[in-house]
Amino acid sequence: MQIRFVTSAATIDTLPPATAEVAFIGRSNVGKSSLINALANHKQLAKVSKTPGRTQLINLFENADGTTLVDLPGYGFANAPKAVRSNWGKMTDQYLLERDNLRRILVLVDGEIGPTKLDVEMLEWLRSEELPFAVIATKHDKVKAAKKVKRKRELAAGCGLTEQEITWVSAAKGINIELLRDRVYKWLH
Ligand code: GDP
Repeated sequence: MQIRFVTSAATIDTLPPATAEVAFIGRSNVGKSSLINALANHKQLAKVSKTPGRTQLINLFENADGTTLVDLPGYGFANAPKAVRSNWGKMTDQYLLERDNLRRILVLVDGEIGPTKLDVEMLEWLRSEELPFAVIATKHDKVKAAKKVKRKRELAAGCGLTEQEITWVSAAKGINIELLRDRVYKWLH
């Protein structure tokens, strides 16, 4: 994937229109930037989204074919002031509900710790709104071999999905990155 950073936006109205788009969402520290960098094969790409002031913005990346990837701000930042949290909710809700040509929402869940309460709430909300989503379990390399079978079963159950419906990845070790790249490509085309 040839991916370039295009823009950061505070509201959906200021985003350029998309032909086909896949969005990434998850709690802070889930490994979202690392995964976007791994998919793009670009070490610093999503770093831009981590610079102060931009962490609460929607970051838009463009593939060579004009399709786009969107990095939504992380949720579950425990210490954030209420105003920041409520603004986060409004902005992401609006994006997820109103964005034209949004083909799939990738919900990242930390593979080491499993779905948090906020992850489960997000999944319930996406289901209630009938939005197309897929769960990606991150940090596959952090799960000990002896625990992998059990953790895969538990994570899927916690998300209300079958094990086959979850894509396990490791940005650090490059596990299933190629597979996810193919899936993203299919969702976009
Ligand atoms: P974000 O806040 O969701 O963008 O998360 P980051 O991509 O910044 O990652 C948060 C932390 O998890 C960092 O310390 C990363 O190095 C680490 N991390 C991310 N992906 C992986 C992975 O696949 N394996 C391991 N072991 N650590 C990871």
